Amino acid sequence: MLCERCKQRPAVNEVVVMEQDVPVKKRLCRQCTVELMTGYVPVVKRCPTCQMTRQDLLRVRKAGCATCYTVFRDELIKITRQYQQGHDHHIGSVPDQLRTPHERIEERLEKLAGELTRAVEQEDYERAARIQKEMKQLEGQGDV
Ligand SMILES: [Zn+2]
Ligand SMILES: [Zn+2]
Repeated sequence: MLCERCKQRPAVNEVVVMEQDVPVKKRLCRQCTVELMTGYVPVVKRCPTCQMTRQDLLRVRKAGCATCYTVFRDELIKITRQYQQGHDHHIGSVPDQLRTPHERIEERLEKLAGELTRAVEQEDYERAARIQKEMKQLEGQGDV
């Protein structure tokens, strides 16, 4: 099926665009999606698919859809970093020095597995790849 905007290239994305304040579903090619997205940026940074704004994103602290990852890339990186830092300080209730290194690795792996599932659900494959790499490194340590 061809892109509904340019009617030249194959449609790859289904996006919701505002036409006279009415949300209209359109199938667009990659090029048109990008053009529409950049068109939004100067006014208010808004995801063309789910209509999420930068402010919404900072409030709920997560992406609304896959397109958000392109639109709010910088914001999401910042949020993910804050999230990770916040959580690294209080994992579990047992103080670190009371646990064996092996227990700590197991716990970390479990946590990473959860994060990996989330990353895949959110279609954040870059992050998923990073998590997988970290898990492999940890598994290597566990065998020693
Ligand atoms: Zn097009
Ligand atoms: Zn979105």
